[in-house]
Amino acid sequence: MFEPAAMLADDPKICKNHSATFNEFILLPRKTDRAHAIDSVSLDTRVTSDFLLSIPFMSAAMESVTGDQLAIALALHGGLGVVPAGRIGVDRQVRMIEEVKSYRDGFLPRFTSVTPETKIRVVDQMEGEDGYSSFPVLNDDGVLVGRVSTSGYHPDHDLDLCVSERMQPLENLLTIPVDQPRDEIVEMLFTSAYNRAYLVDEAGRLHAIVLRSGLRRERRFKDATRDEKGRLKVGAAISTHAEDQERAKACVAAGADLLAVDASDGVSEYMKETIEYVKRLQVPVVAGNVVDRAGFEYLAEWGADAVKVGIGSGSICTTRRVKAIGRGQATAVRDVALARDDWARKTGKYIPIISDGGLAGTGDMSVALCMGADVLMMGKYFAGFHESPTLPVKKTFPVMASGGSTQVQVTVKPYWGEASAKAKNVRRYQQNDPRTFVIEGEEGFVVNKGSLHDLLPRDLRAIKGTLSSCGCSDLAQFRSEVMLERQSVGSQAEGGTSVLMG
Ligand code: IMP
Repeated sequence: MFEPAAMLADDPKICKNHSATFNEFILLPRKTDRAHAIDSVSLDTRVTSDFLLSIPFMSAAMESVTGDQLAIALALHGGLGVVPAGRIGVDRQVRMIEEVKSYRDGFLPRFTSVTPETKIRVVDQMEGEDGYSSFPVLNDDGVLVGRVSTSGYHPDHDLDLCVSERMQPLENLLTIPVDQPRDEIVEMLFTSAYNRAYLVDEAGRLHAIVLRSGLRRERRFKDATRDEKGRLKVGAAISTHAEDQERAKACVAAGADLLAVDASDGVSEYMKETIEYVKRLQVPVVAGNVVDRAGFEYLAEWGADAVKVGIGSGSICTTRRVKAIGRGQATAVRDVALARDDWARKTGKYIPIISDGGLAGTGDMSVALCMGADVLMMGKYFAGFHESPTLPVKKTFPVMASGGSTQVQVTVKPYWGEASAKAKNVRRYQQNDPRTFVIEGEEGFVVNKGSLHDLLPRDLRAIKGTLSSCGCSDLAQFRSEVMLERQSVGSQAEGGTSVLMG
């Protein structure tokens, strides 16, 4: 008798694996000891063997997701932003990297100055325009000679005087050599009676102003992702196209701390050549994307320092419909995680893996981390924050409610895929001609969620809560000890909300 199911089960053309995604799994809780209290849980991880992050979050290298402001905000919280290539010219990408690297809360490398001859009337106007209430006074050689403050002159009588007649002289200011180590500068300012310090070179030229108020703010971010000079870290994407070798060099020269070779399908000769090239630039290289053991081993063989996992799982992705390639993201992450562990046992080299795309909420994120992901890369999640590079817009959407549909107005931010008709990122998708570009991504909107600074800590706390309920104090323990169970369709439905809507 004809038995299609049995025939498929034996069919060598069909893999035995089942392509599964995160919400098909559930974590089994364990006993929580005091050591697992939420505030004691650590989310420390690494994106390459010696590149540490204090949270396992990376933002996607997408034009609608990562700009300098998002990369700064995420690095302050201990994650890492990857500034995109795609349609973005090398100059613009370099500027984004420079913005992140020069960011110092409290350190102002750019400032508005006046000269001793400037009229007080001008200073008074500048206060209104710039919002500053004090200005450094520099002579024609850029040498600091004093400081003029709006509280240091009479707002009616003194307007025709020169700054030199009302400024505080240099000897009343705290000046520190600009090459002094950052920690010492901070210490000197906090132990002084001053609220600002001026960083000057040997000739007395002013290089930066350091504000006590800014440093206090910065102390909130003790776990920020910083380089050895105290600057925030940032990653940069490049494609496998030969012309991006120049881009790679420019990004590294601008201070990029890591290069992510961005290709929708990472197992290719172009990828191999690009990894080899980037290794010569002495910067860690993330390669991908892959979905299985063979893909991981191919990239590990050629020297990838981290491997990105995921094809067809992104929220804006239509690859599976258009090309029917990819793999359920949970199956992909698990397969690659096992390959990573075997590789570490065999070679002694631990190559972290990054789960890229398809994470719809903190539940999915926890499952991905338990499946073995070292880091989570997300697009949609970050696109809705104030700090993402797109502008918020108000939109009216129809909503089905009991008794018919109604209109609601929502503030949203645009979000589009790199393979959407809008972006046509020819290089990520190994296509050369925008006219014949095969669309594999959608464009739309995500809800404007608010500031990353307010919402990210809440989501991290949710993930820490999961580790706590699973009796774990860190991610390594979570990965190695906690069990997952496959859910029935009924169990998945039971886990959804059941309140009445509308
Ligand atoms: P999300 O976090 O689910 O929104 O997925 C983001 C990820 O989707 C990115 O990091 C990319 O790997 C992938 N991606 C970005 N643009 C496209 C596209 O247009 N088509 C398919 N995948 C995309």
